[in-house]
Amino acid sequence: MAISHQPVMVDEVIQYLITIPEGIYVDGTVGTGGHSLEICKRIAPKGELICLDIDRSSIRLAKERLSVFGDRIKIIKESYVALDGVLKRIGIDKVNGILLDLGVSSYQLESSGRGFSFIKDEPLDMRMDEDRGETASELVNTISMEGLQEFLWIYAQERWAKLIARAIVEERRKGPITSSRQLALLIETTIPVKYRPRKRHPATKTFQALRIAVNKELQNVADFLEKCPSLLVKGGRVVVISYHSLEDRLVKQAFHQRKKENISPRKLPIFPITSPPLMKALIRKGLRPHHMEVTVNPRARSAIMRVAERTYNE
Ligand code: SAH
Repeated sequence: MAISHQPVMVDEVIQYLITIPEGIYVDGTVGTGGHSLEICKRIAPKGELICLDIDRSSIRLAKERLSVFGDRIKIIKESYVALDGVLKRIGIDKVNGILLDLGVSSYQLESSGRGFSFIKDEPLDMRMDEDRGETASELVNTISMEGLQEFLWIYAQERWAKLIARAIVEERRKGPITSSRQLALLIETTIPVKYRPRKRHPATKTFQALRIAVNKELQNVADFLEKCPSLLVKGGRVVVISYHSLEDRLVKQAFHQRKKENISPRKLPIFPITSPPLMKALIRKGLRPHHMEVTVNPRARSAIMRVAERTYNE
């Protein structure tokens, strides 16, 4: 199968992530292996790469694509939140660099058949890890109207959250909502014609919020950031590319070791970062992709990259 996913900000990732070519690195979200392929080339012949992803079919594609690197690369189906356990299992104490490229891959959107996209008619699943958790369909068919409204607003700032939540609850009284097309059409017809966004599909935000909720994306980022410093050698780096302002806020908060922001928990799911300041941000402001990259790779449009370095030994 041709791989459609173009890795985002590859040159910047390589520049900041790789400090020594003979080091041990982690790609926590290997996807179909775009970043990993470039990392492997740069750390040949002595460096090692450990790749994780929770998406079974992405793992399979990455394995095919990266097999040329032999045993210098390990590809494991596991969450990046469990990286500490993975390293322990394979006898590694600390690594030289960790990359997280968050969000959803083009492969998942276009070819996974799991309802990530409102353009297709597929079962409304949206789980990146098909082996566990509640599907998007189970979620929209069981959650309370208030709960639905709240996460549409929190995760996607959907201004029609209340209207959409009410429409979903009414629709599911007639029968369960099971497909991406059914949900997309429902939202399209719910938002008043004159307010429908022109540049994007009216269901964009709902789909984004659902995906974030189903995969517990923000909680995972927060949990990883807590553990991350203790997994890096002194001088080791962590590079995170986010595609959502709340994700980026968590990363920024951890890398700049700010005090917990004083924002009402109803408005923002900010998770307190309690680990001691073992990392310092290497770049003050988040990096954005070059405009040339955005024109050829639309997924890069909302990307923001941050980098931190482990400062001292415990
Ligand atoms: N950098 C990759 C694309 C990554 S897209 C490339 O160049 O091909 C984001 C990936 O993160 C998806 O494949 C998704 O399945 C994975 N992912 C999401 N949550 C995860 C988690 N908790 N642990 C590991 N991988 C995760």
